Amino acid sequence: MKHLSIAFLLLLIPLLTLAEERDARFTSSPIDSVVFARMKGKSYKDDCTIPLSDLRYLRVLHYDLDGNVCRGELVCNKAISNDLLEIFEALYNARYPIERMVLIDEYDADDERSMTDNNSSCFNFRTVAGTTTLSAHSRGMAIDINPLFNPYVKQSRGKTIVSPAAAGPYVNRAKSFHYKIDRQDLCYRLFIAHGFRWGGAWRSSKDYQHFEK
Ligand SMILES: [Zn+2]
Repeated sequence: MKHLSIAFLLLLIPLLTLAEERDARFTSSPIDSVVFARMKGKSYKDDCTIPLSDLRYLRVLHYDLDGNVCRGELVCNKAISNDLLEIFEALYNARYPIERMVLIDEYDADDERSMTDNNSSCFNFRTVAGTTTLSAHSRGMAIDINPLFNPYVKQSRGKTIVSPAAAGPYVNRAKSFHYKIDRQDLCYRLFIAHGFRWGGAWRSSKDYQHFEK
C-alpha cells in the first residue's frame, strides 16, 4: 500500500509541474504597484474613470514571425482576462505570429507610435480618434492585434484616412502579406468564438486590428 502511494505521488509530480509551467506562461494578476507606476499618467490618466481593481495584468507567450518565442504583456479588463488567456494560448500552440506585445506605456500611451511599431495592446484610457467618445480600449474591453498590418481605414470626403499612417501598403486587403487578419484567419476565428466583435466587419470604417467585447 505504502509503495503504491509513493508510486502514485511520483506519477503526480510531473503532472503538477506541467500545470505550474502552463500557469507561469499564461498568467493574470491584479495591477501591482510596479505595473501601476508604468501606467500612471500614461494609459492610466489622472481622469481615468475605470477602477484599477477592474483591470488585470496578463503575461502570455507568443511567437514572432521568425519563430522566436517572446514573452508578451498586456493590461485588460478582468471581464475578458480569461478569454484573452485562452485565445493567446491557442495562438501560441498554433505558432501564430504576433510581432510585439508590450504595454502601450512603453510608447507613452501614444497609439500612433505603438501601432507603427506593430505593437499589440489592449487597455488605454482614451477617446476614439477624432471624437470625444471613450474608446472600448478605455475599459480594457478592446484589443488591437498586429496593428501596422491591420490598420484602421476610413473614407472621408473622397480621401482615405489610414491609421497608423505608415500602414498604407496594407489598406488593400485583397493582397497577401504577413500578419493579415481576415475571416479565414485563426485570430479572427478565436476572438469570434469567444464572443468578440471584429472592427473589420464595421460598415462606416474598417478597423482590421480591433476586437472588442
Ligand atoms: Zn482598437
